[in-house]
Amino acid sequence: MNNDLFGIPVERLQGVGPSKAEELHALGIYTVGDLIDYFPFRYEDYRVRPFHEVKDGEKITVQGAVASAPSLQRYSGKSRLLARVTVEGLILTAVWFNRAFLKDQLTIGRDITLTGKWDQRRRQLTVAESEFPDRGAGKTGTLQPVYSVGGSITQAWIRKTIDRALTQYGAMIPELLPAEIVARHRLIPRREAVLRIHRPENTHEGQEARRRMVYEELFLFQMKLQAYRAASRKQPDGVAHKVDSEDIRRFVAGLPFELTDSQKQVINEILLDMKRPYVMNRLLQGDVGAGKTVVAAVALYATVRDGNQGALMVPTEILAEQHARSLSKLFEPHGIQVGLLTGSLTERKRKDIVASLQMGLLDIIVGTHALIQEDVYFRRLGLVVTDEQHRFGVNQRSILRRKGMNPDVLTMTATPIPRTLAITVFGDLDVSTLRERPKGRKPIKTYWVKHSMMDRVLGFIRREKEAGRQTFFICPLIEESEKLDVQNAIDLHMQLRQALPELRIGLLHGRMTPAEKEEAMRAFAAAETDVLVSTTVIEVGVDVPNATLMIVMDADRFGLSQLHQLRGRVGRGEHQSYCILIADPKSENGQERMKAMTDTDDGFEISRRDLELRGPGEFFGTKQSGMPEFRLANLLNDFAVLEQARDDAAELAAKDDFWSSASYAPLRDHLLREARLQGEPLD
Ligand code: ADP
Ligand code: MG
Repeated sequence: MNNDLFGIPVERLQGVGPSKAEELHALGIYTVGDLIDYFPFRYEDYRVRPFHEVKDGEKITVQGAVASAPSLQRYSGKSRLLARVTVEGLILTAVWFNRAFLKDQLTIGRDITLTGKWDQRRRQLTVAESEFPDRGAGKTGTLQPVYSVGGSITQAWIRKTIDRALTQYGAMIPELLPAEIVARHRLIPRREAVLRIHRPENTHEGQEARRRMVYEELFLFQMKLQAYRAASRKQPDGVAHKVDSEDIRRFVAGLPFELTDSQKQVINEILLDMKRPYVMNRLLQGDVGAGKTVVAAVALYATVRDGNQGALMVPTEILAEQHARSLSKLFEPHGIQVGLLTGSLTERKRKDIVASLQMGLLDIIVGTHALIQEDVYFRRLGLVVTDEQHRFGVNQRSILRRKGMNPDVLTMTATPIPRTLAITVFGDLDVSTLRERPKGRKPIKTYWVKHSMMDRVLGFIRREKEAGRQTFFICPLIEESEKLDVQNAIDLHMQLRQALPELRIGLLHGRMTPAEKEEAMRAFAAAETDVLVSTTVIEVGVDVPNATLMIVMDADRFGLSQLHQLRGRVGRGEHQSYCILIADPKSENGQERMKAMTDTDDGFEISRRDLELRGPGEFFGTKQSGMPEFRLANLLNDFAVLEQARDDAAELAAKDDFWSSASYAPLRDHLLREARLQGEPLD
C-alpha cells in the first residue's frame, strides 16, 4: 500500500529531529503509524467541577477570579505565592510554589482557572497548574492524555507531536476490522476512535472510543492466535513421529498399574497428534492426582523410540528431582537415559549434562523452565512436555525455532482451566482432558476447624501414624515476607516436635539449600519421617502416595485453587485421605473458600468457583499465569468482550476467502506486519 502510515518514518513529522527520533525508536515508535497507535495510559482531568462536589485531598480544577493582591514569600532559594480567589462566591486561598513570576499577572478581578489539590480544613488549594481564560483556550475543560514517555520526551512534546501527526495524517488511518464486525457490534470507525483516544472530548465519546479499541485489541489478539493455528496446521514442518503401537502397548503393560480409560484416551489423542507432520501444541488438563505424569511418560517414550530426545520442564527443583527419579525408574529397563538439569548443579556437572544432550547421549532431560532458554542444544528434540504451568507461549516456541528445532509440545496443568477460558486465552492450543481418577481412589474428606482444636488435630496425626500413614503440615508462605514465613515453619516444626515426641518430623522451606530440600523430600518419600512441616514449596506436583493427611495452617490466607492443589498432595493412593483446614471461622473473605473446599473436591468445580470469586484477571494472577498483557483491555472487566472477539475471530479465520478477499486486506496486512515484528512466520 502506498498510503501506508507504517511506511512513513516518524522523522517526517515537523519537530522530530534525529535525537528525538532516536528516543521515539526506544519506545518502539519508528513510523507515523506507530506514533498514532501509541495510546495514552490515562488522562488528566482539567474539567471544571462544581465546588461543592469537591472532597478533601482531591485534585480538582475550579474556575474563579483573583480577589486579593498576591503576597510573595521567599526562603532559601524557594518561593511561595499566596492569593485569595473567589470561586462560586466562596473565598479560598491559592498557593503556588516557585512560581514567583505569576505575581504581576494576578491582578484583582482577573478570571483564573486553578488545578491542584484541595485542603478542606485550611480552605486552601495548592496549585499545580493555572490558566488565564483571557489568554485563550488552554487545558481547562479538557482531558489531557498522559503517555508513557521518558528521557527528554515530555508529555507536552509528545502531545503536540501526536497532535500534528493526527492533523496531518489522521485521514489515512485505515479501518482494520471487517465491515460486518463493525456493523454487528455498532463500533465507531477506527479513525474516529483513534482521534478520540488521543483527544477525548466528552466522556460518552471517550467510552465509545475505548469500547471500540478494546474490542479491536482483543479481536486482533484472537486473530493472531487463530491465524497462527491455521498457519501451523498448513505447514508440515513439525516432527512426524513414527509410533509403533505394539511397542507402546508393551511399555504400558510393564507399568505398575493399569491405565484408566481416560488415560488411554488422552494417550491416543496425543500419539495421533505426534504422528502428524504438524507441530503439536496440546494442553493436557487433569485434576490433581489424575495421573498426568504417566501420560507424559508414554509420550516421551514414543519420541525416544522414534530416535528423538524429550524434555520435561517443571516449575520447581523439587518437582524436577521427583520426576527425574520416577522417570529413571520407568525408563532404565528400556535402556533410555534420563538426565536432570537444574540451577543448583555444579558448573562441571552442568557442562557434562549439556554436552551429553548435544551429543545425544541423553534421551530425556528433566529440568526447570530455563532448560530451553539457556544455551542448551539438543541433538534432535522431538517433544517438550511442560508440567504444572501453562506458560509455554509463542515466545518459547520461537526460541526453539531459532535453535532449529520445532518439537511437539505438550503442556500439562492441574489448575483446571475452564475449557472456554483455555481456548480463549490460549487460542492456539488443542485440549485433552483427564476426566477420571485412577480406580479405587476415595474422595478426600475435608474439614474446616478452628485454631483452638489443635489438640484434636494432633490426635489425628497420631492416628494416621499408627495406621502407617504420613502427614503434610503446611504453613503459609506469603510473598512479601518469606523470612517471617520461614520462621513460622521453623517454629511450628519445633512445637510439633515437642507435642509429638514419638513422631519423626521433617522440615522443608524455601531458605534451605537445594541439597537440604532434596534430602527432606527424599526422607519423607521414603517414609523415614512421619510428618513434613513445609511452606507452600510443595504446592504443586509432589507425589507421596503414602501421605494421607494434609493440614493447612491459616488456610484463609490461601486462594481456592492453591488450597485445592495442596489438598491434592494426599489422596494419591488407595488409602482414605483427609484434609484439615485450620482457619478462623470469623475470617470474612475466607468463609466462601473454606465452604467451597468442604463442599467439593472436584477441581473443575473448584476452579469454576474460584473464577467466580475472583474473576478471570485475578484468577490467573498476573505474573505467574503467563496471561498476555493488553494495552487497553483489562481481562477482569473486559472478559465478555474477549469471548465475543474469540468467536468472531474463529468465524472469520474459518472463512475461505479470508486469505484472498480484498475486504480483509488491511487486517491481513496488520497481522503479517505484527508477525514479522515478533519473528513468527505466519504465512
Ligand atoms: P498428577 O496428575 O497430579 O500429576 P500423578 O501423575 O502424580 O498425578 O499421579 C498421582 C499418583 O497416581 C501417582 O502415584 C501415580 O503413580 C498414580 N497413578 C497414576 N495413574 C494411575 C493408575 N492408572 N492407577 C493407579 N495409580 C495411578
Ligand atoms: Mg503432576
